Amino acid sequence: MNTAVAGPLTSVGQGAPPAFHLLAKPTGPICNLDCEYCFFLSKEMLYPGDRFRMADDLLETYIRQLLEAHRTPEVTIAWQGGEPTMMGLDFFERSIELVEKHRKPWQRPEYTIQTNGVLLDERWAHFFARHRFLVGLSVDGPQEIHDTYRVDKRGLGSFDRVMAGFEHLRAADVDVNVLCTVHAANQDRAIDVYRFFRDDMGVRFIQFIPIVERSTEEMLPIANSRRSAISTHERSLYVQQGDRITDRSVDADAYGRFLIEVFDEWVQRDVGEVYVQMFDTTLASWYGEPGGLCIFAETCGLALALEHNGDLYSCDHFVEPDHLLGNIADTAMIDLVASEQQVTFGRAKRDTLPQYCLDCDVRFACNGGCPKDRFIRTPDGEDGLNHLCAGYKRFFAHVGPAMTTMSQLLRQDRAPAEIMGMPQHRAGRTRPS
Ligand code: SF4
Ligand code: SF4
Repeated sequence: MNTAVAGPLTSVGQGAPPAFHLLAKPTGPICNLDCEYCFFLSKEMLYPGDRFRMADDLLETYIRQLLEAHRTPEVTIAWQGGEPTMMGLDFFERSIELVEKHRKPWQRPEYTIQTNGVLLDERWAHFFARHRFLVGLSVDGPQEIHDTYRVDKRGLGSFDRVMAGFEHLRAADVDVNVLCTVHAANQDRAIDVYRFFRDDMGVRFIQFIPIVERSTEEMLPIANSRRSAISTHERSLYVQQGDRITDRSVDADAYGRFLIEVFDEWVQRDVGEVYVQMFDTTLASWYGEPGGLCIFAETCGLALALEHNGDLYSCDHFVEPDHLLGNIADTAMIDLVASEQQVTFGRAKRDTLPQYCLDCDVRFACNGGCPKDRFIRTPDGEDGLNHLCAGYKRFFAHVGPAMTTMSQLLRQDRAPAEIMGMPQHRAGRTRPS
């Protein structure tokens, strides 16, 4: 066992935040599936010839620096990919040992992992249960929807393998958060998708993630193809540029409709039972508190991504050369998090809003959405409006009356779930839409 602690000791980190969120990618972008909309897969081009496995000394540097950088009791240790389970269970057992070695007595680690689920078996499930992992499982809906884009290298759907993995998690009573991407193949099937998660899978935590794949006009034919179907010399690094979108991307209006349909079902029977992250965050905005989604925060910059070799990037969606902050083996993580480059990145979210957003009634809840999706023009021709704006406007306007009621209930120390007994919030009455 290598017990060397590589990398600099953490400095004070002038102006550093007390806590932040970091997604670590121990296999870089390497995955055992070939999902058609996955922009991560192209990131292998950042590290040509690399084995894409986080080494033990870097793992220790990462864990130690992450714990040292936090001044809050809760420290989230979050794994993502590519497919992190390809590292094998020993890697994660070792990560727990290192957390126990380096955490201060008052620090409470909270483990999360995002996985496609295909490698999960009983051993993995028991490991997750033992260490109380929250497992983010990528599922796009019932089989015919899921298998549209979530395919393996041979183009075969992954649904049966994902559900087999899920059954192991369920049997071991692991907390599962379904991560469902919303795209051209499920944007018009909101209720089928939601009921599948709630009734067939029986999950209580659901996250919807809109697929918006940008491209330049020139690159669009390649962007529309599945990565393994493109010849090696035609492959390129996916970066956030261009004002065209792939055929798989979600339509803005359809995304708004999708969220509204799910909301209308949820607000009638599932409040307090099923947690849909988008609805929780929206309620927090109506209540006047920060929500859990960076895309709707006024500024960002506290959700970073760590590559397998220690390179730290501003955000998981900006793992590209212009947004590399440095390597944690050379510069302490906390100094990179507090760096001018990262602070500027986070503030740009607020400082680059077009006037159309500044004048918008729902800016307090939307804040212009994620900068990666801001590539269309406002009606008066200004650059920098979010591709999803029409959907967001529609959704926030529709849920406003119910959100007002639920936030009033919270202020009276009552449960938001009481809304379900109120006739004015039955489906079709949560106007305007
Ligand atoms: S760029 Fe987008 S995804 Fe990244 S931290 Fe900012 S809002 Fe969040
Ligand atoms: S709804 Fe549209 S105009 Fe309003 S803040 Fe969001 S992106 Fe901007």
